[in-house]
Amino acid sequence: MSSKLKNKILLSSPHMGGLEMGFIQEAFEENWVAPLGPNVDAFEQEMVTYLQDEDLYAVAMTSGTAALHIALRLLGVGPGDEVFCSSLTFIASANPILYQGAIPVFIDSDSQTWNMSPEALERGFEESLKKNKLPKAVVVVDLFGQSADYRKLITICNKFNVPIIEDAAEALGASLDNKKCGTFGDYGILSFNGNKIMTTGGGGMLLVRDKEKAKYAHFLITQARDPAPYYLHSVVGNNYRMSNIAAGIGRGQLRVLDQRVSRRREINRLYRNELEDSGVIDFMTAPSGYFSTNWLSVGIFTKKVDPLCFVSKLAQENIEVRPIWKPMHTQPLFAKSQYYASSQNSFADLAFSNGLCLPSGSNLGNEDILRVCEAIKNIFYQE
Ligand SMILES: *Cc1c(COP(=O)(O)O)cnc(C)c1O
Repeated sequence: MSSKLKNKILLSSPHMGGLEMGFIQEAFEENWVAPLGPNVDAFEQEMVTYLQDEDLYAVAMTSGTAALHIALRLLGVGPGDEVFCSSLTFIASANPILYQGAIPVFIDSDSQTWNMSPEALERGFEESLKKNKLPKAVVVVDLFGQSADYRKLITICNKFNVPIIEDAAEALGASLDNKKCGTFGDYGILSFNGNKIMTTGGGGMLLVRDKEKAKYAHFLITQARDPAPYYLHSVVGNNYRMSNIAAGIGRGQLRVLDQRVSRRREINRLYRNELEDSGVIDFMTAPSGYFSTNWLSVGIFTKKVDPLCFVSKLAQENIEVRPIWKPMHTQPLFAKSQYYASSQNSFADLAFSNGLCLPSGSNLGNEDILRVCEAIKNIFYQE
């Protein structure tokens, strides 16, 4: 069959559950087509319930990036401050550090979890202590649907008394030791961008532990209006509040989230059967106690190949695959930044140079996954 006749297999596309329109319909009938509104408040409450942590306060925003920005503002991060951040991640983890005029310092991942290496983090702290300048915060990313090693990372950050911002944008639904991702940091953030495990058509959420901080976050993201009968402002505000329509989509999506997680995990098992057992790719694995959503099925080829060659050849077959995130410490934007590798060999660099993200959307069928596996094997054995 010619590739033109084969359906396009996307990396991770939105997957509606059917309940979203009901919430949107309600918003239309009540003319709540605005930021704020009953869907926004309900979505926040329902997310707190989902995360099984009733001490948490959720603040819905226009994006995960906005939520990260507000977390940094709440921590008082400002010009000249240093902030530690995972290097193996999407740019959105690091950009808000620059918005605040602060200086990112990047930390490598370990090969076990693909997330922040406790050893590299500790080395970073020791060096900071020598310079007498500890970071103001550590942005820890839960990559590709898997928790970071909070058993160790929290202990280390507590020792140096530096707060954690947990970037759980890719890991909603995942957990470590039965505790949900998003609830490990002093602050947590989620994303509902179109490619994530659930979407609001663009959106995000900040998770905080203190009612006053949640109130202050609300204040900041609605233009920081001081209480007065006219428009009075004494601090810089942002316009980051989620709309009532977007929150309606989110409420519908949250109701099918666990089904989406199950399907992504099934897809991962299929890939493993086909590509790991035949020695083509070593997949990112979940150590004991880690429950991964497998938001994206990702792995590293067992021999040296060029991942970009797979990207272009699979595109000809109507299959979308992507390279692993290019590490932040290798981005031109961060050329002058400091980096702590986990060992002599930087894991983040290895993953980027020899790994691949495979189509993982929960709306893909088994036949789609098998088609991807066949195509990958063909290219791999030709290389
Ligand atoms: C998607 C993503 C974000 C931010 O999400 P937006 O909602 O698109 O702003 C942040 N961090 C990571 C690791 C992400 O993958």
